[in-house]
This record gives sequence, C-alpha cells and structure tokens, in this order.
Amino acid sequence: MEFRDLGAQYAALKDDVDVGIVRVLGSGRFVGGPEVAALERELAEYVGVKHCITCGNGTDALQLALMAWGVGPGDAVVVPDFTFFSSGEVVAAVGATPVFADVLEGTFNLDPAQIAPACAAARGAGLSPKAAVAVDLFGLPADYAAICAACEAEGLLLLEDGAQGFGGDVGGRRACSFGDISTTSFFPAKPLGCYGDGGAVFADDDRWTELVRSYAVHGKGTMKYDNVRVGMNSRLDAVQAAVLRAKLAAFSTEVDAVNERAQWYGELLADAEGELGLRLPCVPEGFGSSWAQYTVVLPESFNRDALQAKLKERDIPTMVYYPKPMHEQEAFAGACLTTSGACPTTKSLCQRVLSLPMGPYLSQADIERVAAALGSML
Ligand SMILES: *Cc1c(COP(=O)(O)O)cnc(C)c1O
Repeated sequence: MEFRDLGAQYAALKDDVDVGIVRVLGSGRFVGGPEVAALERELAEYVGVKHCITCGNGTDALQLALMAWGVGPGDAVVVPDFTFFSSGEVVAAVGATPVFADVLEGTFNLDPAQIAPACAAARGAGLSPKAAVAVDLFGLPADYAAICAACEAEGLLLLEDGAQGFGGDVGGRRACSFGDISTTSFFPAKPLGCYGDGGAVFADDDRWTELVRSYAVHGKGTMKYDNVRVGMNSRLDAVQAAVLRAKLAAFSTEVDAVNERAQWYGELLADAEGELGLRLPCVPEGFGSSWAQYTVVLPESFNRDALQAKLKERDIPTMVYYPKPMHEQEAFAGACLTTSGACPTTKSLCQRVLSLPMGPYLSQADIERVAAALGSML
C-alpha cells in the first residue's frame, strides 16, 4: 500500500498530463511564458482572489510574502509551534524572529487566543510584531474569523500558509484567500502537486503583488535587466504548469474523493474512537478540508514506534507529522521566542499524532484494511 498513491493518480490523468507536457516541449517556452500565465489565471479564479504569482516552491512563496511586506531584523512574526519547518524558517531567513504559539488540540491549527500573548512576548523582548503565519494544517483551514480579529487587534498582517490547505474552504470561501497574502506549495505530495517543485502566492493587493513578482525575478524593475532591489530567482517552469493545469481540471473531483475516504475512515474507526481512546481528525461545522493528511491522535503514553512497526509488517505505511515542536528545533536554538508555558498542546501532539495512508485514489478495501489493523493493535 502507498502512503499517498501518485502512481494511481498519474494512471487516471495520464492522457491530459502527457498532452500538456508535449505541448510545452513543442512551444520552446520553458520558464514562465503563456503556459504559466494561463495557470496563474486559472488558480486565481479557483481560489477567488485577484492575483496569483507562481514561484519555485512553497517555502519561497512564504519568504516572498515577507519580503514584499519588508519584514526584517527587529521584527517578530507569530508562527504555530506545530507545523512544517518552512513556516518558521522563512521568518528567520529574512532576519526576523519567529514567536512560536500553541495550537488547538481539536484542529491542530493556530490557537487564536495565543496571538496576543505571542505579541506580548515579542514586545517584552524588544521586538516589533509585524505579522502572523496561520497554517492550514493537514488540509483544514485555520479559524480565520478569530485569527483575523486577533491580528487586527494587534496590528498584524496575516500570511496564510496554505501549502497543505489548497482545496479546503470555510463557508464556501476557498483556502489561500484568507491571508493579506496567502501561499501554497505544489510539492508532489500536497493536495495539488506537480512533478517537481512549485509554489504560488495569492493576494488581492496590487502593490504587494507587484513586489512579489519583482522579488521572485532578481528584483526586476520595469524590464528584466533593470534591477531595483535584491531579490531571488524563484520561478515555475512551464512543464510543471502544464502538469498543474491538467491536475487542476480534475481537482474538485479529487477533493470530493478524499472527503469520501475521510468519511469511510471515520465510520470504520468509530469504535476505536469510542472505546480505545483514539482521537479522529475533526472538521468543524462550516469548514471543508482537502485532507492533505488523515491524522489521528493516539491515547496518552501509547507506544507509537511499536505500532508503526507492526503496521509496516502488514504493508501499511504511516508517518509522524510532526515529531518535534518548532521551538525545539536546533536551528532555532536561541533564535526564537515562545509564549510562556512553551506550547504544551504542541508538545503532547508531537508525541501522539499518526498520519494514515490517504489520497483520492486510495481504495475502500485498503481503508478497511488500515482501520481493521489499527483497531486490533490499540
Ligand atoms: C510543504 C510545506 C511548505 C513548503 O513547501 P515546499 O514547496 O516544500 O517548499 C510550507 N508549509 C507547509 C505547512 C508545508 O506543508
């Protein structure tokens, strides 16, 4: 069994993907160009924002947003303690200080109530809080109603890290539209993935969009050989754009399919949840997930390593996203802040989470096998 079956997806979409790749090979335009421009229009329309700028990967997308805002040394950015490294890495990369804030046990997402204490911690350390990163972890959008209110109260810009959230929604409004700037990743295993690296920035604001486009191409001015600021080289190539256009056409069907699979897991694991203390992922009323991961929480002090090994013996791959709180990463030693109490919910989740095989092409029989095996081992 595959953890995420990209081969099955290719088999299903092969005709459209292959036609797109061949079209690019014949076009002679390999970086940027009309294929990329068409993708950007289609992505902006799907998400429901004015602008989409594609770039090299999801990490660059986050960094480009911070660069457009001029975030740098002396500034602090609030980041959830439970996320992939990139969400905080980019803050340090622009010279600012990440302030790691705890998440909610139920949704794994940033606790809106931790934004004010995180800002207080930053000010206490002589830093000026500029922005917050909210991550749509495992495909579920964060609680943007509450997060936006907290950001407004603190005067923070909001950056939505939708690397895992693309395809999710809140009340019909799509993920990657909630931040002042929002970003996503097209790494192959993400909800919308290409066949290499890729990423995108989404925004309604014309000025920030213009700055992101400039920073992504060597700080270009009015033309390519007029460089008005120091930027980076972060562009999407046309082959990846063609792959993404073919996959975007099938994406809504895939989002429906992963939601159906999440429901199957929920039904099959209901007993384990009731009797054995397993916690299943929850999607709050009015929210829609794109299920980048199906992540369960094991009972307190359960031997997760042994469970993973036993599942592996039965050809059931599992992953731990994430084993370590951000504030405990060696890279941030002495270079980050946390709220007082040091994020106890994140610490506990890091010990107990387990992600199960998931994806739009996962068979019902495989889900039944995973659920039965897991139920029998708790
Ligand atoms: C994958 C991921 C990123 C980074 O995306 P890349 O394309 O791999 O650079 C950033 N944030 C989160 C939450 C991610 O899962």
